[in-house]
Amino acid sequence: MRYISTRGQAPALSFEDVVLTGMASDGGLYVPEQIPQLSRDDLAAMAGLSYAEIAFQVMKPFVNGEIDDDTFRQIVTEAYATFSHDAVVPLNQLDANHFLLELFHGPTLAFKDVALQLLGRLLDHFLQKRGERAVIMGATSGDTGSAAIEGCRHCDNLDIFILHPHNRVSEVQRRQMTSVLADNVFNVAIEGNFDDAQAMVKASFADQAFLNGTRLVAVNSINWARIMAQIVYYVAAGVALGAPHRQVSFCVPSANFGNVFAGYMAYRMGLPVKQFIIATNANDILHRTLAANDFSKQALKETLAPSMDIVVSSNFERLLFEAYGRDGQAVSELLERFQAEPTALGEAPLERLRSLFASHSVDDATILEVIREAHHRTKELLDPHTATGYRAAERARADVETPMITLATAHPAKFAEAVVKAGFPGVPLPPHMDDLLEREERYSVLPAELDKVQAFVADNRR
Ligand SMILES: *Cc1c(COP(=O)(O)O)cnc(C)c1O
Repeated sequence: MRYISTRGQAPALSFEDVVLTGMASDGGLYVPEQIPQLSRDDLAAMAGLSYAEIAFQVMKPFVNGEIDDDTFRQIVTEAYATFSHDAVVPLNQLDANHFLLELFHGPTLAFKDVALQLLGRLLDHFLQKRGERAVIMGATSGDTGSAAIEGCRHCDNLDIFILHPHNRVSEVQRRQMTSVLADNVFNVAIEGNFDDAQAMVKASFADQAFLNGTRLVAVNSINWARIMAQIVYYVAAGVALGAPHRQVSFCVPSANFGNVFAGYMAYRMGLPVKQFIIATNANDILHRTLAANDFSKQALKETLAPSMDIVVSSNFERLLFEAYGRDGQAVSELLERFQAEPTALGEAPLERLRSLFASHSVDDATILEVIREAHHRTKELLDPHTATGYRAAERARADVETPMITLATAHPAKFAEAVVKAGFPGVPLPPHMDDLLEREERYSVLPAELDKVQAFVADNRR
C-alpha cells in the first residue's frame, strides 16, 4: 500500500512517510492508492469486539506492515485507554431510530482526541525508530490546541509548541492547554489575534532554518493518519447497529471535512451506508456546493459553533478526487480556479456526490432553538456543533427506516457559553475534570514577532 497525491504530481509515499509529511509537495493531499476492503464476514465478525480491537483490524491494512502487529495493537490500546468511557465512543439512543455517537469522552472533550491520541503515538514510534526528534508547531483559536497537546504530552521524541491569542481564549479552553505541565509541552500566548499566531506558524513551516535541521511536523486535519483513525468509529457504530445485515446513515457536523471523509472511506471499504448528511453552521461552503453547485469562498462568520468556522474545507479535496474518478489533473485545475474565483463542480461528479451525500446549514438562532428542543424531547444537552447535526439529521434524512447516527463532536461543557445562551444554567465539567480551574498553569507570553517566537522554539526544544 502506497499513498498518492490528489493532484497527481507528488511522489507516492509509504505509510511512515505520509504520517511524517502532511501536505504533498504538489499542494495536494495524500490518499491510499487502493482502498482496503472489509468483507461482509469481516464486518459480521466484529460484532462484540472491543473498540481497540476493531480499531486494530480496520487500520491494519493502511499501516501496511510498517509497524509490527503487536506494537501497533499496543499503540492503539494505549491511545483509547485515555477515554473515560469503557465503550470509548458509546451510542446513545435518542428515539426509535436516531442515535448519537458520543465522540467526546477523550481527554479534551471533543472528537479530535480520537485522531490525535493515535497520531501523537504514531509519530513518536516512527521518530524513535529513526533516532530522530521533531518539533510540532500549531496555532489555535482555543478549541483544538488542547487535543494536540494531550496527544503529544507523553511522546519522548516530540516537543510541541501551541500558540494561542493572549486573553482571547475562554478560561476553560486556556486551562485545558496550560495545565498540561509535561516537559515537552510549550504554550505560547501571543500578544495578537489568532491570525497573527497562525501567520507565524505558517511562516515557520515555509522557512525552517531556525530549527537547524530538526523536522517540523504539522498535526492538522490533512494528516492522513487522522482520517484513518476516524474511519474506525463509523465501522464500530455501523456494526453495533446491525451492519453488514442492515444499512445505517450518518449525520456529521462538518468544517474541514476530515470527519465525514473518514465516513466515506468506511463506506468505500464496505460498510453499508445509505446516506451521509453534512451539517454546517452559517459557514456553509459545503452546503452551497452540494445544494446549489456554488463552490466559492465567502467571508468568515463567527458563530456559536466555532470549531466549524471555516472558509475553505481542506479535506473536501479528497472527496473531489474520488468524484472526479481519481483524475489528479482535473482536481488540480478545479482547485486552481476555486482559489481565483467562484466556480462550480462538473455535472457528473456532482451527481455522483448527490447520490450519497445530502447537506443542511444551521444558523446561530437555530442552534439555540435546537439545544432547547432536543433537551425538551430527549433530556440530552447538546453542544452547539452537535446541535447543527441534530437539526440536519431531521431535515435532510432520506428515510426514517434506516437508523440515523448523528455524530456528537463535543461535550456541552466545552462550549457552555452557547448552552447558557440557550437558557440553561451552565454545564458542569465531567468528574475527571472538575478540578480544572484549580490546576497549576504554565505558559509564556510573547509579542507577535516572528523572530522572538522562533527563538523561543529554538531555545526551548529539547
Ligand atoms: C473540528 C470540529 C468539527 C469539524 O470537523 P471537520 O473534520 O473539520 O469537518 C466539528 N465539531 C467539533 C466540536 C470540532 O472540534
